[in-house]
Amino acid sequence: MKQRITLLLCSMSAFVLMNCYGQSSSKKQPVQKSEVYSRTDTTKVNVSNQDWKKLLSPEVYDVARLKGTERPFTSEYEHSKEIGTFYCAVCGNPLFRSNAKYESGCGWPSFFEPINKKSIIEAQDNTLGMRRIEVMCGRCKSHLGHVFDDGPPPTGLRYCINGVVLDFEKAKTAEKKFNTKKKTNTEG
Ligand SMILES: [Zn+2]
Repeated sequence: MKQRITLLLCSMSAFVLMNCYGQSSSKKQPVQKSEVYSRTDTTKVNVSNQDWKKLLSPEVYDVARLKGTERPFTSEYEHSKEIGTFYCAVCGNPLFRSNAKYESGCGWPSFFEPINKKSIIEAQDNTLGMRRIEVMCGRCKSHLGHVFDDGPPPTGLRYCINGVVLDFEKAKTAEKKFNTKKKTNTEG
């Protein structure tokens, strides 16, 4: 196991080094999948921050493990209207569906409900002199954002989530439907 991890880290470092050359665009790089990343495995993930630091990009590590906040209005997902599923970028746990996403204008991707109650964990957060409810991934306990009670119906909730810890996949059939509709709309 230890050997496997070392091997994985070596190949990852090589990948990162290669990526550093000729990298000029600020476009989000594909998420480097960690060894625990799985969209089907529901087993709880328990990895120390020391190990997460080696597995995650600095941006993801800062938000997911140090409970940081990405700069507002910087996530490509904030205004995204694509149909599909948002997964935890750290472990692959399905978190939100695009049909629960809405434009809150707050600067971060916002949802009115998670995929199910177990997909997330909520906890009281009294840091920074505020009383807030923190939202974490139900599988790997990574910090995702906060939930507020100023959201739209039917829940009245606003899950304000850092885009950097989200991993999006378009729904294949829904994508087809959406594109056809879009085409019809522009034609009409
Ligand atoms: Zn997770």
